[in-house]
Amino acid sequence: MKTAILSEHSRQFEQLRFAYPVVSRRSRGLSLGLNVNPDKVCNFDCPYCQVDRTVAPRDTSVDFDVMVAEIDALMALAASGEIWTHGKFADTPEKLRRLNDIAFAGDGEPTTYARLGEAIREVHKLRLKHKLPEVKIIVLTNALLLRKPDVMDALSELKAGPYEVWAKLDAGTQDYFEYIAGRKLSLAKVVDSIAHAAEQLEITIQCLFPTIDGKDPGEAEASAVADRINEIQAKGGKLRLIQLYTTARRPATDRIGMIEDARLDELAGVIAAKVDVPVEVYYGRHWDSSD
Ligand code: SF4
Repeated sequence: MKTAILSEHSRQFEQLRFAYPVVSRRSRGLSLGLNVNPDKVCNFDCPYCQVDRTVAPRDTSVDFDVMVAEIDALMALAASGEIWTHGKFADTPEKLRRLNDIAFAGDGEPTTYARLGEAIREVHKLRLKHKLPEVKIIVLTNALLLRKPDVMDALSELKAGPYEVWAKLDAGTQDYFEYIAGRKLSLAKVVDSIAHAAEQLEITIQCLFPTIDGKDPGEAEASAVADRINEIQAKGGKLRLIQLYTTARRPATDRIGMIEDARLDELAGVIAAKVDVPVEVYYGRHWDSSD
């Protein structure tokens, strides 16, 4: 039953358009998501992306006031505990019945949203209104735009309270990066952008290793990821944690698969042996399994 709850990552909850509740493994509890890219446009094209772009989006832009009203309502449900009586969450184990975070994530790259800073400020106000000062605000990013001053200005709003920034770094070498990002972009620039952001904000690295045609990225790529992480730290970047995970939801292409738990542990070991940052492993699940 626990797996079924954890696999329920639907962006739909009742009639909400931009906010959605999920019980998430990485959050070890309830995460309230905000989809600031409802148009599903992204500046990466990761082959493991679980956003279904074959289905037209319901909304092509964020209605700011509606989004704030929706997250306000969800935070009220979470603060009162009423959310656990909802059919979708009624079977949630006791230890996961806690609100961990409000996460800017969604169907694209959150830092492309022009009103991100304003939105973070509003969520912070709601955090105080609902007496949830310990609940983190998390921003997920593929890190491409972290050198842009307006993006860093927006993210600096996070410092008003507990926060995390999860920056994607799925590759250590240029060739593999181009495949896994789905774009001809410079890995060196992305690494530099993470280092720049990590001078101002504490960053959590998210590294997703899938299998591609049945093969995982291998020890050499894992070792190269560790090298890039060491570069970020050598430039003065503050890194909190490395989250190594694998696919757990249906990806965009059938070439992508899930790394088995023991093998993921091995690859995590390669990274952990070279870096001075804690490494946490999040196992995948087969998206077609019903258990
Ligand atoms: S960065 Fe995220 S949303 Fe964009 S394509 Fe990759 S996985 Fe999908």
